[in-house]
Amino acid sequence: MIPLKRFVRKRCAGRLHRRFFSMERKLVIQLRRVIMKQLSIEMPIVAECAVRECVYNTEQCCHARAITVGNGVHPGCDTFFNGSAHSKAWSRTAGVGACKVSACKFNEDYECMTEQISVGRDGESVRCLTYQR
Ligand code: SF4
Ligand code: SF4
Repeated sequence: MIPLKRFVRKRCAGRLHRRFFSMERKLVIQLRRVIMKQLSIEMPIVAECAVRECVYNTEQCCHARAITVGNGVHPGCDTFFNGSAHSKAWSRTAGVGACKVSACKFNEDYECMTEQISVGRDGESVRCLTYQR
């Protein structure tokens, strides 16, 4: 049997340890938020997306932080991810982080320069409907 003094010391140490790690975790989360805010940049928005089966889609809007468009010459949505677990971040509107389709008239140096884009189905593929040559 553990003596009472040692038992109390052990329990207190455990609590302090847990409290310290929970404070440390909160601090790390807050720091991450500050850093993420510093990284926020302007980008075109994904105004609508009709691809309901994508995990980032809620009510025909994309809620990823940012999407990547393009697979060489095809303006497909590279971020498309087929699945049933839809985004919880429904209040967020996605931006176009990068676009690899240099043939599009809105593309400048592999970045999309228009104000907003729409994404939808084109046969079997999921693509940027704003694409123009
Ligand atoms: S834009 Fe792409 S990532 Fe966003 S919901 Fe549509 S298919 Fe998914
Ligand atoms: S509009 Fe053009 S440049 Fe912008 S994401 Fe679509 S394909 Fe890329």
